[in-house]
Amino acid sequence: MPKIIQLSPHIANLIAAGEVVERPASVIKELLENAVDAGASQITVEIREGGMTFMRVTDNGCGIAPEDAPTAFLRHATSKLRSAEDLSAISTMGFRGEALAAIASVSRIDLLTKTAGSVEGISLHLEGGTITEQSEAGCPDGTTIIVRDLFFNTPARMKFMKSDTTEAARIAAVVQQQALAHPEVAYRFLKDGKQTLSTPGNGDLSAAIYCVYGRECSKMIPVKSRWDVYSLTGFVSKPTDARPNRSLQTFFVNNRPVRSALLVSALEEAYRNQLMPGKYPACVLHLQVPANMVDVNVHPAKIEVNFLNRSGVFDCIHYGVLGALNKTPDRPQVQFKSAPAPSQPAVKPAEAPAKKQDFFRTMTPQEFKSFTSAVSQAPKPSPLAAAATAAAVERSASAPLREPVAMPTIERQKTIPPIVVAVEAPPAAQEKPEATPPAEPVVTAPEPEQTVLSMPAQAPWRMVGELYRSYILVEQGEEAYLIDKHAAHERILFEKLKANQEAISSQSLLTPLPYRTSAEAAGILLANKKVLDSLGFELEEFGDNTLLVRQIPMDLSDGDVADALDTLAAQLLAGRKEAPDTVRDNLLHTVACKAAIKAGWKTDDRELEALVKQVMEREDLKYCPHGRPICITLSKKQLEKQFRRS
Ligand code: ADP
Ligand code: MG
Repeated sequence: MPKIIQLSPHIANLIAAGEVVERPASVIKELLENAVDAGASQITVEIREGGMTFMRVTDNGCGIAPEDAPTAFLRHATSKLRSAEDLSAISTMGFRGEALAAIASVSRIDLLTKTAGSVEGISLHLEGGTITEQSEAGCPDGTTIIVRDLFFNTPARMKFMKSDTTEAARIAAVVQQQALAHPEVAYRFLKDGKQTLSTPGNGDLSAAIYCVYGRECSKMIPVKSRWDVYSLTGFVSKPTDARPNRSLQTFFVNNRPVRSALLVSALEEAYRNQLMPGKYPACVLHLQVPANMVDVNVHPAKIEVNFLNRSGVFDCIHYGVLGALNKTPDRPQVQFKSAPAPSQPAVKPAEAPAKKQDFFRTMTPQEFKSFTSAVSQAPKPSPLAAAATAAAVERSASAPLREPVAMPTIERQKTIPPIVVAVEAPPAAQEKPEATPPAEPVVTAPEPEQTVLSMPAQAPWRMVGELYRSYILVEQGEEAYLIDKHAAHERILFEKLKANQEAISSQSLLTPLPYRTSAEAAGILLANKKVLDSLGFELEEFGDNTLLVRQIPMDLSDGDVADALDTLAAQLLAGRKEAPDTVRDNLLHTVACKAAIKAGWKTDDRELEALVKQVMEREDLKYCPHGRPICITLSKKQLEKQFRRS
């Protein structure tokens, strides 16, 4: 039996250092947080050789009293926590009292510090955690800490360090993150003698974002909302400016940078059906949570947090971002090359004309009447998430679009569906598509206190005509718009299908259509009869991998049935791994896409006009359900420039 002994403080510190001080960047993070806790308004970070040989952090904070300075380097020595109760309401960045001890144990440190009240400051030198020199020192108010030769006494750890460039980049990322976390502090970062970042520290987050990310991010949309006890501020990217990865998603909880799958999924839920596949929004979001509703003590480096009320946090971010996105018009501009080539049209010409179908015809007076009454009887969706949809459906009552509305009969659920649960469940734990409820409840948003950014008053619009039987040209004031009629109609149908959240109205076929497919596809379609039923399809097994199609969605034409079923089968097969919500959205996309008017078709002017009306008046119609834009702008100014008139 080996004898049990308690580890020496030095060994304990080395072990703690393994958790807290992973690399130079983690040292900088801890020192910066200490400076913020000390109330500094100016912090300067200097590094050499990726920080391995030299890092200096200087602040103008409260400083450390001479008699306290040696204590600061002891394990579990902190000025920020006094009792166990304090742990449940932490308002400082640090509280564990182990950073300085851990850093000191694996480096050589010089500390120079003075409090505002005292005449003299103190200077300390430590080697591997032991104080070797101590003296009085004249210095300005505040604290300077120099960390040299990191990991000089732990060669094993040293081996894990990457090149100086990589470590320097990680440090730069930490400083940037802190600058975004505390816009009220002026940060300066110098790398090998060269200043690479400087923020004004005037409390303006957008100014800090500009300094960190540059002009690129000046186009981000402001977010400002309150929800229950939570408040959310910051900036998010427009869907058109989405990025190929999540590297520009930055979240702060009570000014602390955090990693959280919950926050990421709440953000991305707000962009649902607005982004191309493989694209991710960028954000700098600050969530303020009452200190007793978040546990920040779940990770040694404090980059993970636990929320007491996860769904409240999810809703705050989801609806806050959604509200901001819906308030912001987002229509990409036609891009001209610098030397305009007259032979090249600014927009893509239509593909070969597709055959004309007649389901997208004008409403008969009867249909119009029943549609109008259906709309007036329909229960209103929530004021927030579904507001735009409801308003538009109502508005479209006067439009000559044929709208076979399925009459909602059940009282819609007043609460939010448990999105949070679905989002974070591991794929294996998710239900199979068969289990998808055919009629999921409407996303009815509780009313948060949203800050509404008002849209500028709009000049009246005029439809000029159609280009290539694909793009509708609209003039409004000094702007022209090109609307992709297929994308617009597809989105309108999709929103309508989603807003109804009911079985889609279907048409019975006089003679059932035989649909032959692979054994696998036939199998999955039959296994999902209920889901297909809710989408307006009635299928029956006919043998030999053939299905008999008896009913199809009202908006679909016979010719598109096989194609739609192929896609649905493929989605159901792929959807086994997906969340039921996503599967249903994909299925709705398919029905909307197949049922929408196609580019190349001849479309009646009144129908075009009805589409334009919706696109111009609804704030939620920006992208087709696949994330392609519906509408692009071409300003008078742009044209004048092209014609050399300005
Ligand atoms: P924690 O931040 O968790 O309290 P640290 O080991 O990081 O623990 O710091 C120990 C203590 O040293 C802090 O509680 C604080 O009192 C003091 N301290 C550290 N850095 C500074 C600084 N830059 N200015 C003033 N005091 C500091
Ligand atoms: Mg600390």
